[in-house]
Amino acid sequence: MKIDHLSETMAAHGAGPAHRRLLLRNWARAEPLGRGRQRPEDFMPARLRDALPALAQTLAAVARVRSEHPGEDGSARLLVGLADGQAVESVLLPRDGVCVSTQVGCAVGCVFCMTGRDGLLRQVGSAEIVAQVALARARRPVKKVVFMGMGEPAHNLDNVMEAIELLGTEGGIGHKNLVFSTVGDRRVFERLPEGPVRPALALSLHTTRAALREKLLPRAPRIDPAELVELADAYSRATGYPVQFQWTLLEGINDGDDEVEGIARLLAGRYAVMNLIPYNAVDELPFRRPSWERAAAMARALHRRGVLTKLRHSAGQDVEGGCGQLRARALGRTDI
Ligand code: SF4
Repeated sequence: MKIDHLSETMAAHGAGPAHRRLLLRNWARAEPLGRGRQRPEDFMPARLRDALPALAQTLAAVARVRSEHPGEDGSARLLVGLADGQAVESVLLPRDGVCVSTQVGCAVGCVFCMTGRDGLLRQVGSAEIVAQVALARARRPVKKVVFMGMGEPAHNLDNVMEAIELLGTEGGIGHKNLVFSTVGDRRVFERLPEGPVRPALALSLHTTRAALREKLLPRAPRIDPAELVELADAYSRATGYPVQFQWTLLEGINDGDDEVEGIARLLAGRYAVMNLIPYNAVDELPFRRPSWERAAAMARALHRRGVLTKLRHSAGQDVEGGCGQLRARALGRTDI
């Protein structure tokens, strides 16, 4: 389901361009349809006015919350059902953020990720992406949208860019508060700078060693980590936003002093933030998180080497943390 399909439905009910923008704006902000005019009935053709309840139903049917799982840290995980029976996860983040999914499943196949285990099942349409934000806004304020849920946004670029455009315009989200997360793909670096709304960039690096990266992210594009950092840095200079590098910390795999050296070599002095995120262990996968002390020592060492580093808890740890775990449970993949 794409935003264009919704626009066409609105047009079929007599909505011209201005009314379509208004209705999409109301939808993306989780407002009642027609709000924004003192007396909508004064401005809308009768046919469109009469169609508002039906349009509201059409918009509500794009995606619905199947279940909601609040966490102790202020986050909440939503299992979001799509019209064809598929499901994705969204996470309401502390401090007015939401993390949305861009694909059902994922083709990158990161070895530490539940979502990657089934491969790609289908793309999430641009309307389904915006609907996740609307569902979040029906529950709490949203000022930041991160495209870090299930899926690799670079593999669904048209839909993600359409959603970003609507959220960054009618949706009222600040452009630097739209965060496009990727494992690194040349199409991203070509197309993102050209869009009317240029989001901030988060790049999942995970290691500075090309050979290890090929093992951890087996179907990510083969781009050397040093080149990835250069490409991300160029985007950062073009937009004026720092790049957020993501690093899932796996005990004994990418938490060594050699990686600290590698990160310092690639990132020192750059306009970038390194986010160290201790892994959220799951029973089915053989990876473990390092101790908090080890993670903190890495962060301190990187700071000393001139790399702005944040050590993060991944939101929603106590509510099945880790992308795809809630959906896996809903499908009976793991014990509840
Ligand atoms: Fe895909 Fe992200 Fe999971 Fe990797 S971590 S398999 S990119 S969803």
